Amino acid sequence: MPFKALNLSDNVLRGVQAAGYTDPTPIQLRAIPVVLGGGDLIGSAQTGTGKTAAFALPILTRLGAHAKGQNARVLVLEPTRELAAQVETSFRDFARFTDIRGVAIFGGVGYGNQRAELRRGVDIIVATPGRLMDYLKEGAISLRDISILVLDEVDRMLDMGFLPVVKDIISRCPKNRQTLFFSATVPPEIAAVASFALRNPTRVEVGINRSINESVKHALYPVAFEQKFDLLVALLAKTDFDSVLVFSRTKHGADKIARRLKAANHSVAVLHANRSQNQRIEALAGFKSGKYEVMVATDIAARGIDVAGISHVINYDVPEKPEDYVHRIGRTGRAQAVGDALTLVTPENYGDIRDIQRFIGAKIPELQLEGFPYKPLAPRPAQPAPQGRSNGGNPGTLQPRGGFRRFKSRR
Ligand code: AMP
Repeated sequence: MPFKALNLSDNVLRGVQAAGYTDPTPIQLRAIPVVLGGGDLIGSAQTGTGKTAAFALPILTRLGAHAKGQNARVLVLEPTRELAAQVETSFRDFARFTDIRGVAIFGGVGYGNQRAELRRGVDIIVATPGRLMDYLKEGAISLRDISILVLDEVDRMLDMGFLPVVKDIISRCPKNRQTLFFSATVPPEIAAVASFALRNPTRVEVGINRSINESVKHALYPVAFEQKFDLLVALLAKTDFDSVLVFSRTKHGADKIARRLKAANHSVAVLHANRSQNQRIEALAGFKSGKYEVMVATDIAARGIDVAGISHVINYDVPEKPEDYVHRIGRTGRAQAVGDALTLVTPENYGDIRDIQRFIGAKIPELQLEGFPYKPLAPRPAQPAPQGRSNGGNPGTLQPRGGFRRFKSRR
């Protein structure tokens, strides 16, 4: 079914066309009619599925082509500054043939520009909870005309400790409104927020995405803890990559990896929550433009980031939660581009890897980098033999698959 059949307004259809979309994704097909009909919605799709357009297109259609008075009519809450900026940009793109106005409100930058935009009057506010609360407390933003509230990535907001302030914000919105709620998982705390925020919601599940995009080849690289960094450098040296996203569990770890990669002559950007907002914007823009060939990021900062052309994801640290493995790997291989996902695994991580393999329902092949001076690994703890493991649980028989070539410089 083409977008035309979905009853979106002509202006919005032109915006969709200009964005280069031809056919709606499954979440768009299912969510757009619900949102256009004015009903509440719980969506369990993740970023990468086209979730943003699934709510932005029908919202813009409902708003009509023209800006109204001073107070915003739509409020979208996002867990991170990057997502707030990205989602506001999507709204702006889709709304380019209307005079609907949006603003992104997030912390880490000055208040001046945001205040100026607010004074001019906006229809849509896309905000992170903390900075929005600052404006609410001082009366610079009123939520009294909000008719549509979008709570996006609610599970991430829970992880970041935002739920109390999110609840406060919800209670400041008019009761008579439409609420759209997106969360990849719905643990009890989130179910409680959903029942507080929503009325007779329609559930749209594109399922928890446990599967890895088929175009992504992924592999585990077992290594002794003290050799992780050397292996990372060796892998980068032997990999033909365009742009690499390296994940660290901690902010401090991300800084350390970035410092060492710079010392090894890589151009490196760093993205995590302790960087200033200007540093984060510069890192992301530089990574997108190709100025930086490597970006080192933490999970929260990189969640939902949409960068075309990431050729490799390297998990320097195994992710803490199995679903984060899927989120991280989802950053590569988007839109059928071929991507590779490499995970460094130390003996301490064997349990986490088992959980990840169980979660995605697949076994990830183990590889060794040829010629790397591996130290012997601590033996694996006794465990029931995982299915399909044929080499007694120790890597060593597999060769790197084709594709490791000399590093290709892009400059
Ligand atoms: P999202 O899940 O909203 O972060 O979207 C993921 C990526 O898919 C973004 O780069 C979107 O621009 C793109 N996208 C969303 N919907 C479509 C569509 N119907 N056709 C093509 N690309 C899309």
